[in-house]
Amino acid sequence: MTTKEYIDEAEQHLLHTYNRYQIVLEKGDGVYLYDTDGKKYLDFAAGIAVFAFGYNNQEYNDALKGQIDKLIHTSNLYYNVPSVSAAKKLAEISGMDRVFFTNSGTEAIEGAIKTARKYAYNKDGRTDHEIIAMKHSFHGRSMGALSVTGNVKYQEPFKPLIGGVQFAEYNKLESVKALVNEKTCAIIMEPVQGEGGIYPAADEFIKGVRKICDENDILLIFDEIQCGMGRTGKMFAHQHYGVKPDVMTVAKAVGGGFPVGAFLTNEKAAVLVPGDHGTTYGGNPLATAAVSKVIDMFETGNILENVNEVGAYLEKKLDEITEKYDFVKEHRGKGLMQGIELGIPVGEVIVKAMDKGLITISAGSNVLRLVPPLVITKENVDEMIEKLTQVFDEY
Ligand SMILES: *Cc1c(COP(=O)(O)O)cnc(C)c1O
Repeated sequence: MTTKEYIDEAEQHLLHTYNRYQIVLEKGDGVYLYDTDGKKYLDFAAGIAVFAFGYNNQEYNDALKGQIDKLIHTSNLYYNVPSVSAAKKLAEISGMDRVFFTNSGTEAIEGAIKTARKYAYNKDGRTDHEIIAMKHSFHGRSMGALSVTGNVKYQEPFKPLIGGVQFAEYNKLESVKALVNEKTCAIIMEPVQGEGGIYPAADEFIKGVRKICDENDILLIFDEIQCGMGRTGKMFAHQHYGVKPDVMTVAKAVGGGFPVGAFLTNEKAAVLVPGDHGTTYGGNPLATAAVSKVIDMFETGNILENVNEVGAYLEKKLDEITEKYDFVKEHRGKGLMQGIELGIPVGEVIVKAMDKGLITISAGSNVLRLVPPLVITKENVDEMIEKLTQVFDEY
C-alpha cells in the first residue's frame, strides 16, 4: 500500500480524535525513525517523552522477547517475578515505599486521586473532600484525571466532572494558599509542567506547597509522568528541589515504549486496601519486565550523565537561537525537556521541520517542545539545530 492508501484507510476506520501528521511511521533505529516511503527523521519527540533509549535497542527488545516466551500475563491474584523486581527497583530510585502498577498515565492519576480521598476519609469519615490542581496542568483524559487537568477546552463537553477540584495558579503560592481549607485532601502538580508549555516549578513554589501540605496534613501528589525517569537530568524532577511527594505518578518512559505506568506512595499514604482498587493488566509480567529492564539500563547506560551533558549543550544552542531570531521569545526547561516559545505558528514550524526530516511536538499553543530520546548525542543536537535553523530562516 502507498502512504496515501494507508492514511485513507486509517481515516476510514480509526476514530478521528487526532489531526495526524501526514506520514506513516514504519520502523525506528536509534534516534531515527523511518516512514513507509523510506524517509528518515531525527526524532526529538520520542513518542511524547516515552522512548528513552531510542528505537530497536537490542538489550531492551531481548528482555521483552525473553519474557514473552515465559509468561505474558497472569493476574494480580497471584505474585509474579518481574513485578516484584520492578516494584523494588522503582521504590529504590524514587525513595517511595509502595508501588501500584497501571496501564497508562491517566490510570496512575486515578489511583493517586483515590488515594487522596481515602486518606482524608480515614481521618474524618467525610465524603466532600477537595483537591487543589494547577491551571495549565495536564494529567490525562479519563474522567478523574480530566477533572484535575487545568484546561477548560478539554473539560467542557464532558461535564459534570468529579466534584471538589479547585485550580490554583502554577508558581503562585498565594493562589494555592487561598484555596486551602479543612476539606482539602490533596494538592496535585507536575514538577515541570509538560503539555501546558514546559514550565519548571519555581524553587520557592514547590517548597511552599510542600510546607502547606505538611502544616495541614494534605497529601502532595507529584505527576512525574512526563518529567520523571531521567528526563530532566535527575531520576525524578522533584529531586532537583529536595522536596518529596506523598504520592507520585509515573508512566511514559517508565516502560521504555511498553504501555505501563504506576502510582507510588509513601507509607503514610499507603491507604488503599483489598477491595479499594484493582486492575486486570496492571503490573503484568511483560509490562513489569519492561520496567525492570528500563531501570537497569539507566544504570548501565549512564543515562543521567548523558542527559545532563547533552542537556546543557542543548540549552547553550537554544540560547544562540533565542538570540538570533526575534520571534523566539524564550526557551525553558530542564535537561532534555525543553520548550521554545515562538511568535510564529508552532503547528506550521512542526510540519516544515518534518519536511526537513526532524520530528518535534508542540506544548500549549505557542511552544515547540523538544523531548528527544535520552541517549541523543551532541552531534544529534547539532543536526536538530541545523534543520530547525533552516525552518526559522524561512520566516
Ligand atoms: C502524558 C501525561 C499524562 C497522561 O498519560 P497517558 O499515558 O497518556 O494516560 C498525565 N500526566 C502528564 C504530566 C503527562 O505528560
